[in-house]
This record gives sequence, C-alpha cells and structure tokens, in this order.
Amino acid sequence: MKTHDRAKAAPEIGHASERLIEDRRVKDKTKTQAGTAVCERCQAVGMHKHWFVDNALYESMAGNPLVRMVVCPGCKRIEKKVYEGEVLLDSPLLAENREMVYGTLYHAAAKAFLRNPLSRVALIEEEGEQIRIVTTTCTLAERLGKAIQKAFKGKLKIKPSKDEKFVFVKWQRREN
Ligand SMILES: [Zn+2]
Repeated sequence: MKTHDRAKAAPEIGHASERLIEDRRVKDKTKTQAGTAVCERCQAVGMHKHWFVDNALYESMAGNPLVRMVVCPGCKRIEKKVYEGEVLLDSPLLAENREMVYGTLYHAAAKAFLRNPLSRVALIEEEGEQIRIVTTTCTLAERLGKAIQKAFKGKLKIKPSKDEKFVFVKWQRREN
C-alpha cells in the first residue's frame, strides 16, 4: 500500500488509534516497547496482541532492539491461505469501468486494512465479465461487495456459510 493512500484514509480512524498510541507511549514507554512487535512484511505494529497500522509509529520503532520483527497475523493468513471470504462481481460494466472498479476495491481494501490488519485481499482473478476476489476476513468481503454496489448499483447477495467462518458475496448487474 502506498503511503499517501494510508494518510488519506487515516483521518477516519485517526481519533481512536492516535489516542491509544499516545497514551501508551507517554505513560509506559519502556514496557510497551519491550512487548511490541512490527511486521517485517506489511509494517503493521503489534502492541498487547492488537495489530494496527501507523506509519509514524513504525518509523519510530524500526531498528529499536526492544522491538521484535515478526510476521503479523494478517500476513500469516495470506501465507497459510486462511481465507474467510469470496466476492464474485458479475457485470459487463466491470470491463467498461475498469479504473473505477479497481479504484473502489482498492479504497475499500485500504480502509479495511487500516481498521484491521487481518483484512487482506489474497487473490484477484478476472474472467470474462467477472472478477473474483478472495479475502482473509468476512468483513472485508462484505465491504468490497457493498462498495461496488454503492458505486454501480445492481444486486448484492451476502451469504454466510453455515458450517464455517466464511462468507460468499455476489454482486451482479445485468440490465441493459
Ligand atoms: Zn504483516
């Protein structure tokens, strides 16, 4: 993810995360850093078993010997192919508005990642008039489907699996 995109999405979540980080940093710096980890792949920061994205904080911690370099739970999900969502987009509009479609998907995914670094797009496939997206969380699959429906109208179906933690999201627009 590009830095400027994170910065753009940051104000929407800035309030809560900023407050938490500032409080912990100021009041309990040494203890916090000893238990802190950063992800070597996506640069997410983990504190007290909670992962979030904060560029400034990452920069301030890089190279600190008290901070562990690890692979965060979100990156592990992608590596181990732990998927919780599938989105199928189906419409001739997709090819006609490629830039807007991918812009919408990217924006929704970036926002979801900032809120919860476990939320990742693991796979995107295009075939004919369809785009198939596999995600690491249910919420992300739902967000992607809703974002596309908001931008392009059409029909959205969200079907959670009965047997496992998995959601199937289908968006379709077929009218002429
Ligand atoms: Zn990571």
